[in-house]
Amino acid sequence: MNLNDYIASIEDYPKEGVTFRDITPLMANGPAFAQATQEIVDYAREVGAEVAVGPEARGFIVGCPVAYAMEIGFAPVRKKGKLPREIIEVEYELEYGTDVLTMHKDAITPGQKVVIIDDLLATGGTVKATIDLVEKLGGEVVGIAFLIELKELNGREKIEGYNYKALMQY
Ligand code: 5GP
Repeated sequence: MNLNDYIASIEDYPKEGVTFRDITPLMANGPAFAQATQEIVDYAREVGAEVAVGPEARGFIVGCPVAYAMEIGFAPVRKKGKLPREIIEVEYELEYGTDVLTMHKDAITPGQKVVIIDDLLATGGTVKATIDLVEKLGGEVVGIAFLIELKELNGREKIEGYNYKALMQY
């Protein structure tokens, strides 16, 4: 099965000149979603992941089935104000201004091997902030998995030195 057949490309969304890659057709197709999940599971096993970490919201959709299949835990990365207990935070740059991502302080135990999972690598800002959070907690990022990499945005430069895999490239 070619997973690319299940990605919809929406021109000029969310604004003019941007092509949005929509993963909901893939999510809607059982065999396609299962295949994508299995490919990430295989990768996460290969790198020896002990816990999965994913940023809201699509990182949950892609990451949680992987954690379930591997019988490992999943730790959420969320925008500030969403996690109820003691948190750590990192600020990261958006196209205009900055935003803050947070994790619970006890989400990772020091030395734990972490796979970060998100739907898409664009500029790399989100994944870099997630790496910073995991490392602040003493976790070791052993791998990073995406469904899609937007190659021309060069997000891979922000994760240089880290092992990563993208199932599809645009
Ligand atoms: P970055 O921080 O790498 O610039 O952007 C990646 C984040 O933005 C990911 O968490 C992803 O969910 C979201 N994102 C940016 N562009 C797209 C897109 O075209 N399609 C989807 N599905 N997510 C996107």
